[in-house]
Amino acid sequence: MPLIGHAKERQYLLKKQREDRIFPVMIFHGPNGIGKKAVALELICNEVCSHQSACGDCPACQKVQNLEYENLFVLRPEGKFIKIEAVRQLLSALSLRAQDLTRYVILEEAEKLNPQAANALLKTLEEPPEKTVFILLTSNLSSLLPTIRSRAIPIAFNTLSFQELQELSPESPTWLLKAAQGRPGLLEDLKQHDSLQERKLALEVLSLYRESSRHENFQKIKQWVKDKPNWDRVFFFMQSFLRDARILSINEDKLLNLDQKAYLQDLSQIGDDFIDLQYRATIRLQEQFLANQDKSLCLENFWFESKKKYVSVTA
Ligand SMILES: [Zn+2]
Repeated sequence: MPLIGHAKERQYLLKKQREDRIFPVMIFHGPNGIGKKAVALELICNEVCSHQSACGDCPACQKVQNLEYENLFVLRPEGKFIKIEAVRQLLSALSLRAQDLTRYVILEEAEKLNPQAANALLKTLEEPPEKTVFILLTSNLSSLLPTIRSRAIPIAFNTLSFQELQELSPESPTWLLKAAQGRPGLLEDLKQHDSLQERKLALEVLSLYRESSRHENFQKIKQWVKDKPNWDRVFFFMQSFLRDARILSINEDKLLNLDQKAYLQDLSQIGDDFIDLQYRATIRLQEQFLANQDKSLCLENFWFESKKKYVSVTA
């Protein structure tokens, strides 16, 4: 399937490629999950595609997409860092003479090059071997070593528009497309998992303050913990609901969860103070979960706190 989005950047790169003036060292930077790597792979497909169109479907394009193309080298972090061993292996492979076709090196999360690995790479970036293109991917340009940045042409990428995401995934409901915030990677992640259920759970957790019966709440919480949902995504949705409730009165067009307007209106009527406190409590709850504290206890606390705040602001 051809790529959607980043039209300007892709045209620019294609033009350079056709003129045989592609930059030997580039940094593609922009938020995570927006398709920087897909653009890099498309650039390679341009060169090898049997239909000369980077179709993405022919065997040559498929090979690139599956990272099995012989002139493509991909380095990514193992654990926290891209390590020097990986860079050494790469340099040794590149020391062989290039054949007819351009060789491409993609460094994923390039900010994770550890200092030794970065140093080992510097000289090569300064004088790249013939017919070799380095593409460094990062979500944080300023975290790359200045010595690396100074050797590369940075190319900025932005999130996709709502229309572009819709084109990419016409079957997705509006709320899902909005929740993905212009990031196809996040959209895929939300689609693949049972995000509908996690979104429902997010609403339930946020609505706990409405319940007074301790016994009922305790049963509910026990069941949630037992169900083992993906809590990261539950927190993601909780925060997105609270964010929406906060901006509802300012700019309705910017809502991510338009389909839940009635609920958001309810919440926003309680007032900004309550929403802000809930937001902070949600972050705290997430931190407690990350620290492996007892989930049932933490959720019960969350309920008590929310209830107290609710009573105090509505008294
Ligand atoms: Zn093709």
